[in-house]
Amino acid sequence: MSIILTQNVRINTLITNCVDNMKKWNYNVPNTIKFVIVEPRRFLGQCVFAKNGNPLTIKLNRSLINHGTENDITETIYHELIHASLPKGTHHNATWCKVAKEVNEKTGLHISRLADSSKLGADYYKEYKYVFRCKKCGKIIGLSRMTRFVKNYNKKDSNGEPLWWHSKDHGEFERIK
Ligand SMILES: [Zn+2]
Ligand SMILES: [Zn+2]
Repeated sequence: MSIILTQNVRINTLITNCVDNMKKWNYNVPNTIKFVIVEPRRFLGQCVFAKNGNPLTIKLNRSLINHGTENDITETIYHELIHASLPKGTHHNATWCKVAKEVNEKTGLHISRLADSSKLGADYYKEYKYVFRCKKCGKIIGLSRMTRFVKNYNKKDSNGEPLWWHSKDHGEFERIK
């Protein structure tokens, strides 16, 4: 097996531990996985399946790595390793949820379908350029780049309806950074 690790020794220890456990529990972890730490994005982690000669790659959000607790980081690594162990296109279907539940039972962690970065605290958002909060539920969203959302988050259409809202509760966003 060859696991291609990051530059971060502390994270590599967590990664190696998670991969070893997944193999020990007989999940179908690919032989080659490349782990990389990427600039802060909307996701905490992302599994990119092998293509064009590139190995399966698991991306970890740098802000999570710098400001998340060990449990937050470990849950994200497992979340992505579960994707990696299942066929491409499985997403968060019943099979994914079943494996996540099994791993939670074995580890005492809380791996979830949708990791909410709002719980990671203010430091997590320091590395983001733009930060928004839902006025209804308080959900926080960080972005590193100028996007259509950043430009138009508070614009209204011709009927006075907001162009963007939090899909969960129709709350409007306010910019806090
Ligand atoms: Zn996922
Ligand atoms: Zn909301």
